[in-house]
Formats: sequence, C-alpha cells, structure tokens
Amino acid sequence: MIKHHPSETLLTQYCDASLATSLSLAVSIHVDMCPVCQAKVAKIETSNANALFSEEPAQFEKPQTEKSDLLEEFELNVLDMIMSDDSIDEVYEVEPVSIKVNEHNYQLPRALTRISHSKFTQVGKLARSRVALDDGALRSSLLHIDAGGEIPEHTHTGFEVTLLLDGEFSDEDGNYVPGDFIWQDGSHQHTPLTKDGCLCFTVVSSALHFNKGFSKLLNPIGNLIY
Ligand SMILES: [Zn+2]
Repeated sequence: MIKHHPSETLLTQYCDASLATSLSLAVSIHVDMCPVCQAKVAKIETSNANALFSEEPAQFEKPQTEKSDLLEEFELNVLDMIMSDDSIDEVYEVEPVSIKVNEHNYQLPRALTRISHSKFTQVGKLARSRVALDDGALRSSLLHIDAGGEIPEHTHTGFEVTLLLDGEFSDEDGNYVPGDFIWQDGSHQHTPLTKDGCLCFTVVSSALHFNKGFSKLLNPIGNLIY
C-alpha cells in the first residue's frame, strides 16, 4: 500500500496549476497511481470550482454597448466546436509506452509518454535518463538502480522528490512500494538501497551532499542524480 503522499500544500498548488512543471508532473504521476490522492484532488477541484462560481461579480461599469448578436453567435459556435472536438480527450487514451533498462522492461507512467527522455547513462549500478523539461534549476530524471545497488548516504542543499515507479527500495525510514512519493530536503539524510532493483522518477533542485567518504569519488554519482 502507498504510504507516502504529496503534502496537502503540494496537492492544492497542483490543483491551482501554480507548481513548477517538474513537480506538477511528479504529483500527476503519483495521483494517477494513488486512489487516496485522486479523491483529495477531486475534492479540492470541486471546492475551487464552487469558490469560482460563488464569487460576487465585479462591480464594473455597465458597458455602453450591448454585445452584438453576431458576436454572441460566434462565441456559441466556438464553444460548440470545442465541445464536439473528440481529440481533446485523446490525451487520456494514450497507448502505453514500454522502456527497457538493463534487460528489464518497464511501462512508463501515462504522464511521461509524450515527453522525451535521453538515453540512460550508467555509473555502477545506477542508470539515469534525463527527462526533457526546461525547468530552471529543477532537473527531472528516470533513475534505475540494479538489484543490490545503493546510493551513498547524502543530504540535499535543496530538495529531492523520489517517486517509485516500479520495483522496491528502502532507506533508514523503511520500505517503499510503487507510487510512494518521497520528499527529502536538507533536514533529511538517507541511504537508499534496493534488493531487487527499481525504477524511479526524480526531481532534484540542487547538487547532493555526501556525508561520508571522499566526495570527489562520489561526484559522478552526484552528477548522475542531479
Ligand atoms: Zn497519494
């Protein structure tokens, strides 16, 4: 069962469309996998819609001229066209896309099927593919860890979102299942490791800070993850 969800604040910002693209994508993938958050999002959207429709109309001066019949008819026609355009629903019927990483097949989340991603770059048991989003300092990736792989203990100067898509991993706080949405910042440190291998979607806002060992030796891993 999914135990880790985006915070209420994140879900609210997701519904307001005020999140950065990468975070919005992460929340959207999670919501697709999580009935609990689907219900929460539906509730927030209903309350947003109610708030919008119950707003007092602004006290504008009445326009001097009434809207012409012609303009009104034009607007109705445009509305008809939009309502009758079936291609608008197409985004919900995308064909599943599979990817192969080190002989493992994975199905991509629906939200990622139309966004390109780079080839996987391999460092030890870690492989990363950059998701093609131009989102400032925020970098999104698909991160694959082969069975028995781990990421050395680290903290973050910014934050890191890890969304487990397939497989399993664990850290000091416990075990994670597909759909788990894990938010880490400078107040957390962790050493994720996987017995059977996993595929994650990550959003990282800045370089990692390794707590042990020679950070110079760990730089390739840091560069891979950020
Ligand atoms: Zn959830």
